[in-house]
Amino acid sequence: MSKVLIIGAGGVGTVVAHKVAADNVFSEIMLASRTKSKCDEIAAAVGGGRIQTAQVDADSVSELVALMKSFQPDIVINVALPYQDLTIMDACLECGVNYLDTANYEPKDEAHFEYSWQWAYHDRFKEKGLMAILGCGFDPGVSAIFTAYAAKHHFDEIHYLDIVDCNAGNHGMAFATNFNPEINIREVTQKGRYWENGAWIETEPHAIHKPLNYPEIGERESYLIFHEELESLVKHYPSIKRARFWMTFGQEYLTHLRVIQNIGMARIDPIIYNGVEIVPIQFLKAVLPDPKSLGANYHGQTSIGCRIRGVKDGKERTYYIYNNCDHEIAFRETGTQAVSFTTGVPAALGASMFARGIWRGAGVFNVEQLDPDQFLAELGERGLPWVEKFDLDLEL
Ligand code: NDP
Repeated sequence: MSKVLIIGAGGVGTVVAHKVAADNVFSEIMLASRTKSKCDEIAAAVGGGRIQTAQVDADSVSELVALMKSFQPDIVINVALPYQDLTIMDACLECGVNYLDTANYEPKDEAHFEYSWQWAYHDRFKEKGLMAILGCGFDPGVSAIFTAYAAKHHFDEIHYLDIVDCNAGNHGMAFATNFNPEINIREVTQKGRYWENGAWIETEPHAIHKPLNYPEIGERESYLIFHEELESLVKHYPSIKRARFWMTFGQEYLTHLRVIQNIGMARIDPIIYNGVEIVPIQFLKAVLPDPKSLGANYHGQTSIGCRIRGVKDGKERTYYIYNNCDHEIAFRETGTQAVSFTTGVPAALGASMFARGIWRGAGVFNVEQLDPDQFLAELGERGLPWVEKFDLDLEL
């Protein structure tokens, strides 16, 4: 039996709370976030008196340490924002607590994310006999576990990896983001980047795009963007000659994004407005729809998977492994849309894998370094079934 502390009471935190509460391996559950009332709402929605709540500023190591010392969790599931990764990891080290997250660290004042900051914690976690599991959402997360599964069972060498992420859902709003708007807009307005023949190739934002066909959805224009799991996957699978990440965007979304950037609303540096310092992108977040609120009218599916080309027993083969998730089904179960659902289910399952002793290690691990079999055996029954296809046209 294990005690778990969930930090962050947004869309993803809501799903994690539902899934953790349904898992008997967790004897005690604490949900803590900046705004305690949001934790209380989630705890009431989950019901059963399973979830305790607390207020914490996760930017403050001392507040986190105080909370961890009083609750004494075995593992923290960090589903706050990427800005808080390092403070939470510091507090875990101080209190002897294991760690899991779904997004790599990003400094507030620089729209840049990479694993170096968190990989630098490896020796300290190892010395303390603690485990940190990085990137255990869907992408990163299941995308890397799919790759690990392909490498273990279907390929001697993976040569070409394309992660394809389609959201064919319609929420009926002119513009909204599916997860935290600040993090989302920072991510998708970055330059594109992909790995080819041992080097990173940079492109202008959204410069490379092509139509791809997604199962049960059809053709959608897909744009090459940089995504964090590419960095760890090319490190852990050195046979990869090219690794890319594709995400679908509608024209309406891209037009809004362009306008937001052109008028300066995507700026992350502070400006003075009426004598008060504000950060334009944080102000924009305050006026955009809360991603959690989209679920009620969201129809359609997401489809996220890996398209892989490589060699098995001396022969070239292609392979596609994916999950489709329906926004309405996700909403019925947890009151959130599929993007929060597809992130929260793997995070809760990853923590359960740790709690049951199936994923264990000392140090900092990306999920592809852990055994994929049991995780994927359970992912379907927890709400995210997956499909494999062999020797087909990958379009890429
Ligand atoms: P939300 O913005 O909906 O939720 C974030 C939560 O964290 C909010 O409850 C917020 O509090 C809380 N929070 C923010 N700052 C602090 C702080 N300093 N101290 C305590 N709590 C804080 O985001 P999402 O739920 O959409 O996303 C959560 C995480 O999941 C993000 O890191 C995101 O990048 C990641 N993600 C990963 C995906 C994947 O597939 N790997 C996909 C989608 C998201 P408050 O309510 O008071 O603002």
